[in-house]
Amino acid sequence: MNVFVTGGAGYIGSICVEELLNAGQTVIVYDDLSEGHRSAVDPRARFVTAQPRDPDDVIRAVQSAKPDAILHFAANALVGESMTNPGKYFRNNVGNGVNLLEAARLAGVRKFVFSSTCATYGPPDHVPMTEDLPQRPINPYGESKLMFEKILQWYHQIFGLEFVAFRYFNAAGATERFGEHHRVETHLIPNVLKVALGQKPHCEIFGTDYPTPDGTCIRDYIHIVDLAQAHILAMAPGKQGFYNLGNGDGYSVREVIRMCEQVTGQNIPAVPKPRRPGDPPKLVAGAQRAIQELAWKPRLAKLEDIVTSAWRWHQAHPNGYPD
Ligand code: UDP
Repeated sequence: MNVFVTGGAGYIGSICVEELLNAGQTVIVYDDLSEGHRSAVDPRARFVTAQPRDPDDVIRAVQSAKPDAILHFAANALVGESMTNPGKYFRNNVGNGVNLLEAARLAGVRKFVFSSTCATYGPPDHVPMTEDLPQRPINPYGESKLMFEKILQWYHQIFGLEFVAFRYFNAAGATERFGEHHRVETHLIPNVLKVALGQKPHCEIFGTDYPTPDGTCIRDYIHIVDLAQAHILAMAPGKQGFYNLGNGDGYSVREVIRMCEQVTGQNIPAVPKPRRPGDPPKLVAGAQRAIQELAWKPRLAKLEDIVTSAWRWHQAHPNGYPD
């Protein structure tokens, strides 16, 4: 199968590309490198530099690639940033997404797989969260992804475009070759591991007064390879709809820091800071739908395995990717 991957130079995209290639697919990566890294693109893939300011660029790129499926990872994905710069989120995650959908329609693409997020739900009424919970995002990032979910449904209804939208919980971990490197790192696990690498004196805990047992936010961490595998399953004909991807286990920020201490064998000082605007207290997935309907089998569900793989990658690449 010929697969067109937007954002294939980013953290999640690069590892999905690696897994797709390992599964024997042909991959075209389309990425503007605003967040991604050229050296995160598996050399077996073809790389096309995206020009997101030109709406026709993506149409030309999709038409020349003639893909069977599009995997759409390219997006801005930081809750905190979306609270200070919402326009960036709506313009890129919604506006550029529509350009891509138009390109898909014009090129007769059969399948569209979209990276959505548990941030579309907002604070849930109950956990584990199932796909039928009301979606009431509390930050523009979640709102932009929810808007695109709705647009996707219209393209399905009007043009018959088959789609799978994955609502990711917290992607983490690495493969041997590819891992998490953001130019400005805001995510918990890489920031905590930077302390263990000696690059920072301490990590920060954003909020210690949440209504959770230890006062810090609870999240559901999912190994990036398990996440990638779900995308491969989603490409099978007939698969359609919205799926949570998480393990169903919630870990607080303090528990994650403790696990990083255990895995690295180092003491990791943590400094309490105010809450980060836009953060719900507790997000834990119910992923039965993906397990049953896509035959998804998470294999690296233990937080220890997730942190161990991240630590291995960060030790081998202490400064991340070279570019
Ligand atoms: N967090 C933190 N310190 C950090 C980075 C993140 O306390 O240096 C918290 C953050 O407020 C959230 C959780 O850790 O409650 C996970 O944040 P992350 O940015 O990794 O992922 P998100 O849940 O925002 O997608």
